[in-house]
Formats: sequence, structure tokens, C-alpha cells
Amino acid sequence: MATLNNKAVIPQKYELDSKLKFRCHPGVACFTRCCRNIDILLTPYDVIMMKNRLGITSTEFLAEYTRYEVDDKTTHPLVFMRMKEEEGRSCPFVKDVEGCSIYEDRPSACRYYPVGQVTHRRLDDDDKTPIHDEWYVIVKEDHCLGFEEDQVMTIGEWREDQKAALCDDMNREWKNIMMKQDIPKDQINEKLQQMFYMASYDIDNFRRFVFESNFLEIVKIDDETLAKIREDEVELMHFAFRYLKYLLGIEKAFEVKAASDK
Ligand code: SF4
Ligand code: SF4
Repeated sequence: MATLNNKAVIPQKYELDSKLKFRCHPGVACFTRCCRNIDILLTPYDVIMMKNRLGITSTEFLAEYTRYEVDDKTTHPLVFMRMKEEEGRSCPFVKDVEGCSIYEDRPSACRYYPVGQVTHRRLDDDDKTPIHDEWYVIVKEDHCLGFEEDQVMTIGEWREDQKAALCDDMNREWKNIMMKQDIPKDQINEKLQQMFYMASYDIDNFRRFVFESNFLEIVKIDDETLAKIREDEVELMHFAFRYLKYLLGIEKAFEVKAASDK
């Protein structure tokens, strides 16, 4: 999504079996250059991985490490990693010698770099159902010397090597929601945006909303789903996406209880 340096994108579509000549390792002279002066768009799963790595709540993580923007086109809330304010704008997690201090839990965009993933939404010619096409681009920035290395991999092998496939599975549903651009602007008021933000990024606050507000008195949720979202944070994240679809009118994902059921 919105983290690519568009000027450095090679104007070509790459598929999973396309070849990439590239290697990144601590011995390259540019080591950690790509962790400075960049905009890293975070996904809900990125936030979950990083806040758990740091042992803090999502609310604390968002306050300490992120900045918030509203997308011009869609008015959807976007969360970016907040770079340090000093010269060079380095990522708060980069160390000069060791590199990324949260490497195993780094965001999806960091895993893919210098590959960028593009998702395009279109409507099926016949029945007009939405179809989401995925392809890849390569970002070749002058400072990145990994392209001078001899290793050749397919994009698919790079994705496996960087353990990005799981992130894709976790992010796909949310990205599809984020691409929904035809929600009337006047429908997205400030209150709805706050709920959108919470359900997307602030999973610990969303948990409180589900279990500590009157939400369960209003909405019908079966016992099996309730047990899963109580115990499993990733299940809760998917439930939050379902809530988002309901909130944005994309899908009637919940049934409201009748007065007699309450
Ligand atoms: S080779 Fe590229 S990706 Fe690797 S550290 Fe250098 S700038 Fe970053
Ligand atoms: S999270 Fe890690 S890989 Fe990503 S920019 Fe920060 S230090 Fe670099």
C-alpha cells in the first residue's frame, strides 16, 4: 500500500515466479539505510506482532510508536510507524550494528522490501462481484546495494524466505476493506472513523469494547465464536474485520437482537 517510493519503482508487473537478483545481509555497506527516512504503513496484524513483541498493549504501542493519517481518497484511517524526529528520521527499532531489533516481528512492508505488493480491486464483468488481483513491483532505490549481490530468487521464494506469506493471509481481508472506496463520504463521520481506527489497529481496546460495553447485549454472537475471540487474539482480529464490514455497510455481518432476546 502507501509505503513505496514511487520514483524508484521499476515500471513492470512481477508475479510470484518472476526472478529477483538481490540479497540483503549485515555485510552490505548500506546495512539499515532502508530503515531511515521512510513511511511504513502498518496493518492490524503488524500492530499485534509488534505490541506483543514489546510486551505492551496496542493502545500503548499506537501512542508511542505510530502516527495517524486520514486517506485523502477514502477517508479511511491509516497508521504509520513514527520515525524518530532527529535528523535521518530513523525507525525506533533500528540499531546501527545489529539492524532490526524486532526482526522476527517486523512489519509486512519491511519483510517484502525491496518488493512491493500491489492489490487492485475490480468488478467481475458478468456478475459485478469484486475481484482483488495481486501482483508485485520492485523498488530499486539508489542507496540499496542488495541488487549488486549474486543471489537469484523468485518473488515467491523471497516471500517465503521473509515469512511474509502468513502476513499476507492475515492482511488480505483488511486490505480488501481498505480498498472499498465507494462508501459515501458523508457516511464516514468522526465517530465512525474512531470505531474504524479501533477495530483496525487497537485490538486491546476493541476487546474491551466487545466484552465490557453493552455490545453483546445488542448483537447476536454464537457461543463458539465468543469462546474463540475470548481466547485467541488473531480470531478477535478477524472478528474486528467482520465488525468493520458491518460498520461500513459492506456486509450484514451481524444480527441485532430483538428486544425479547436481550
Ligand atoms: S541491501 Fe537494501 S534492503 Fe538490505 S540493508 Fe541495504 S538498503 Fe536495506
Ligand atoms: S521495523 Fe525493523 S526492518 Fe522495519 S524499518 Fe524498523 S528497524 Fe527496519
